[in-house]
This record gives sequence, structure tokens and C-alpha cells, in this order.
Amino acid sequence: MTRPKVCAVAADAVFDGSALHRHAAVRIEDDSITWIGSRGALPVGISLHELPDRHWLAPGFIDTQVNGGGDVLFNDDPHPAALARIVAAHRRYGTTGLMATLISDTAEKMRAALNAVQNFPGHGVLGIHFEGPFLSQSKPGVHDPTHLRLPSGEDLELFVSPSPILKLITLAPEQVPRGFIAELVKAGTRVSLGHSMASYDETKTAIEEGLTGFTHLFNAMRPLSARDPGPIAAALECPAAWFGMIVDGLHVDPAMLRLALRGKARPMLVTDAMPPVGGGQREFSLFQRRVRVQGEACLDATGTLAGTALDMSAAVRNCVRFLDVPLTTALSYASFEPATFLGLGDRLGRLAPGYRADMVAFEPNEVRVDGTWIAGIWDACPAGAIAR
Ligand SMILES: [Zn+2]
Repeated sequence: MTRPKVCAVAADAVFDGSALHRHAAVRIEDDSITWIGSRGALPVGISLHELPDRHWLAPGFIDTQVNGGGDVLFNDDPHPAALARIVAAHRRYGTTGLMATLISDTAEKMRAALNAVQNFPGHGVLGIHFEGPFLSQSKPGVHDPTHLRLPSGEDLELFVSPSPILKLITLAPEQVPRGFIAELVKAGTRVSLGHSMASYDETKTAIEEGLTGFTHLFNAMRPLSARDPGPIAAALECPAAWFGMIVDGLHVDPAMLRLALRGKARPMLVTDAMPPVGGGQREFSLFQRRVRVQGEACLDATGTLAGTALDMSAAVRNCVRFLDVPLTTALSYASFEPATFLGLGDRLGRLAPGYRADMVAFEPNEVRVDGTWIAGIWDACPAGAIAR
């Protein structure tokens, strides 16, 4: 795909990550945004991409938890070509940056996954998210319990060794030694609590060590309870923490998510997506277990939720419908907040001069995606890829 060195995109509504601009335009030079302002102020003759009437332009979606897409499970195929299929599958639904997520697996698989992300040639993969393997045996979800373990010296090396790629790990604080989280954070790895039975106090200690994330809040963690507040209360009291929300109407009752939004922590929409997103298969296998798709749910034979078939455009739409938040707020949960959580808030998650031109164009009522730009390169959404 080619495009002129300088071009502009105009829309009836441009959401810049915090404010909505009517009849506005964004000027792009190479891969970056150089200006945002009134459509009427654009120079005559500039190459212009105009969105259809009433359609919106917003920062591209950033998904910090993507296990698969396009009929590929990252655990099964931790290679750059497989990642390209996953990225393409999610791009159809507005995602312009994702964290390739590896479910608890062997040390060898973890190294292969890290290499795959390191060697991924495009821009759509922001880094790697290791979901596990230092998780609670009491809250495995669909993780294979045989892969859950305590960290070894070799594991520590993987997380603290210098690397050009962004690393995020979901762990259970009660499964790692005191000081482990601090060491990871010092090395630049982001740490999120998940699949954990940590108490309120253990969670507070983890936050003091530098933990800043909570993976799919409410699911696979000690529940919120009258005399046992656990990690959920600790999360919602912390203004310096972000929590992942799966807004599919299945993983968490919307009333609980509305409650979470009244806390001090910062929400991010995640999909926790499995291979069916942007793929054609309605069944896949996860550690030798068959998982079937029913609506946006992925269920194993025992009825346990095994990730989702949710895409980001549906997550944004559900966020507006189920959680009573304005579309602009839902959009910030899908871009600005995850960008900031990942430490990329100075270059992604906003439409502003100096930011990379990662953008999504969509019809706002159904959040139906027209197409996306990644680093200034437009890709139309293929026909039939509209949100379900
Ligand atoms: Zn999980």
C-alpha cells in the first residue's frame, strides 16, 4: 500500500482521545500526525480521505490481551507469520496495536513467543503479554494446571534481560517471592495481577512493589467479600492501577463493572480473544480440550469460559450499552487508557501532533469499522467484517 507523504483525513466527528471535534481533520506526514484542526483550515489541494457522513475518526484500539484470532492460537504457533494473521484478524475490528498473549506454557514456548514478537516485522504488535505461568492452582481458569509453577532463575532471566520489546506479565503475587515484582518492574516489565487468591494485604504489597495492572478484573481471582476484600477492593482503591474489563455480558455482570467504574482505578477494554475472532472456525482446541463458540462465548466441555470470541468494536459497543458510558469514554478505555498503562501514552492513544497515525474510522451507532490506519497506512475493513 502506498500513500502520499502528506495527506489528511476528515470526518464529521474526530475524537482525539479526550475531546470530540466536529467537522475536523487530521494531517498525516509519513507515519505520524502533524496537525489536528478544523476541516476548513486544510490547505487546498492536500490529498484528502473523507469519511462517510456522520462517521467518526478515533485513535486505533489497543488490546492488551489477545490469545488468538483468524483461527490461530498464539500458544499453538508462536511465530511471526501466525502473529500477522492474528493482527489482521483484529484489525478488521479496529485494533491497531495488541499485546500478543501467551497462556501459561513451557519455558521453551515462552522463549519462542518472545522471539516471535521480537522478529515481528510490522507495527501491529506492541509487545508480549505472558498470562502465567506463576498463577494460583486455585484459580487456573482454562490454563493447564500442569504448566503453573513457581518462578525459577531461568524465568527471572527472561523477564529482566534487556529487550527491545515491551513485556507484560500476569501473575499471582502470592506465588512469587517477596521482591520478585519489584525486580521485574525495575527491568521495565509491567506486572498485572490475575488468576490469584492474593489477600487485600498481599495485593497492597504487590502494588507497593510496582504492580500496576489487574487482568480481567473479577474473573479468576479471590472475590470481593464483606470481611475479605481481596484484590478487587485493593485495585479499585488505587488511582495508579489499570484493570482489564471483558465487556461481553458473560464474564462479569454489567452491574459489577458499573460498580468498578466508580472506583479510582483506570479501566481498559480487553477482548481476551481466542482464534474465532476474525476467523471462520466455531471450534478450536486448547491444551487438548475442545472449546466451542456460542455467541461471543467460548466454552469448554465443562462449561468453563475459555477466553472470548469478542472483538474490540463489540467491546466498545457493549461498553456504551451495558455500562451507560458515553461513546467517547468507551473509546478512551479502548485506546488512551491501555496506551498509558503500557507506558506508550506519549505516542499512542491520542490523535495529536507527534503521535503515530494509528486510527480507526467507524459508524458510531453500531461501532461498525470502515477501516484503520497503522503508522499512516490505510486498510479498509473487508466486506462482511462488520461487528456481529
Ligand atoms: Zn485469564
